[in-house]
Amino acid sequence: MRVHLVNPSHVSFGVGVITPRWLYVLASATPRSYGDPVLVDETLAPVNGAEIRAGDVVGIGIHSGNALRGYEVGRIARECGAHVIFGGIHTSLYPQEAFELGGASAVVKGDGDVVWASVLADCAKGAVQPVYEGGRIEPDQFLPARWDLMPPDSYMWASVQTVRGCPKHCSFCSVWRTDGQRPRQRASDVLLQEIVELRRMGFRFIALADDNFYPVTLEDLELAKRQVGQPRLSQLQDLREERFELMARLAELPPDTVFYTQITMEAAEDPEFLEAMRKARIRGALVGVESVTREGLKAIHKDFNSDGLSLVDRLRTFRQHGVHVLGSFIFGLPTDRPETFEATATLAAEADLTFAQFVMLTPFPGTVDFQRWEKSMESDSTRIAGFPLTRYWLIPQALRPKVYMSHPVMSDEEIRRRTQGVWDRFYSLQSIWKRSRCVKSLRSRLAFALISKLYRQMYANTGIATDSARGNRAVRWAQWLAKPCLRLFQGRPMPELQVPVGASEQVAWTSDKKDSTLVSL
Ligand code: SF4
Repeated sequence: MRVHLVNPSHVSFGVGVITPRWLYVLASATPRSYGDPVLVDETLAPVNGAEIRAGDVVGIGIHSGNALRGYEVGRIARECGAHVIFGGIHTSLYPQEAFELGGASAVVKGDGDVVWASVLADCAKGAVQPVYEGGRIEPDQFLPARWDLMPPDSYMWASVQTVRGCPKHCSFCSVWRTDGQRPRQRASDVLLQEIVELRRMGFRFIALADDNFYPVTLEDLELAKRQVGQPRLSQLQDLREERFELMARLAELPPDTVFYTQITMEAAEDPEFLEAMRKARIRGALVGVESVTREGLKAIHKDFNSDGLSLVDRLRTFRQHGVHVLGSFIFGLPTDRPETFEATATLAAEADLTFAQFVMLTPFPGTVDFQRWEKSMESDSTRIAGFPLTRYWLIPQALRPKVYMSHPVMSDEEIRRRTQGVWDRFYSLQSIWKRSRCVKSLRSRLAFALISKLYRQMYANTGIATDSARGNRAVRWAQWLAKPCLRLFQGRPMPELQVPVGASEQVAWTSDKKDSTLVSL
């Protein structure tokens, strides 16, 4: 019985930007007695059905964006006679779909790290159960990934998760409902071991793939202090302390190691935290700006963000502490107006953002927005390829609408066109070249331009373009740009590197100081 794990994707680029962490974590959860699992990340290359044999186990992890392709893979595997097991956020929300459309033998709901071994044991006995409840595991149960199974020269960034869950409750986001609002933070020891393993292999760019790297804000602490008996205060202080401990230990890694994470804008109010990030070389952060207007932020339950001039100030604060911001904006909120697009493009330029993404409001399953939208669509009889709009992830990619929630003053096409216009403006060669001043040498500036264009091709043109010719062209461009970009991110392997013991210890790394950054972000 061989175990296959598949990360489905309807487009393959040959090179991936970030390692799909779940694939390597589940590989780690696979007992060695079954041999090394066969790992297929379809963002690199599509699955080969000829390698799947009767009696094998095929584990497929899906989110709503790749569910349709996942179901295709499931049916292929089932035809080969394999046990087909679905997991991932989408499966937890819609387990029945995997049986009806994906040829599932079983589904895993919740975290798979612990329950996966039981699933495999049942498959081996021929007694697979239809549903396995993985629940929400505790931080000390999170498994380190099997990075030794990663194909060489395939990914630009490695990924490590330091905390799961987010205390916020944004209406467009499912994280707080699926991963929970209690931050489950991993201990710095296990994190450092995994990060050092990756650095030994030559990864010097590592994404801290967290739901929210800043789970305790200064305001949270203030509120906890005001509570009678302060029941939550020490818990929050401990969480915060652990963040600082982790960052202090990251700071001891070889100086060319660079991290990137996701964080809420409130961190801009916390200079101590930003300073620790700078020392830890957390050089980039995705910050969910979402909307530049107060009404827009209220509409999505994100009024802890700033708007207007104070928003520009807050975003610039990150940069002043050496943290480059990838600002994420949403278009199509009911409060948006035609002039919102122009205002957002201007703000993105003024706020010293290094990268930006402009996404169209999409009701993601598992979110509050989705619930509301689903209710409002009860009387809508539209069907595309036999599916209602409220099951849009099942509609074939080419027929899928780009905008789902009707807007009070703009048509779907206007929102799409204006969104594409903002991407075009932010990623024009002139704007990219201006932003490339954030790195020093000409070579680094050229590298910055290359990466900006790759980002644009992978995430904008392939998603927003309406005509398939433009979409296909974008994929070909991305495939072409990906290889040279990969080389820019690779560092020299450091097989001798030891895990730093603690802030007070001698730094235990061996490094050629000339092996410094190509792209010194
Ligand atoms: S969008 Fe970010 S801050 Fe809001 S709930 Fe999701 S992870 Fe938390």
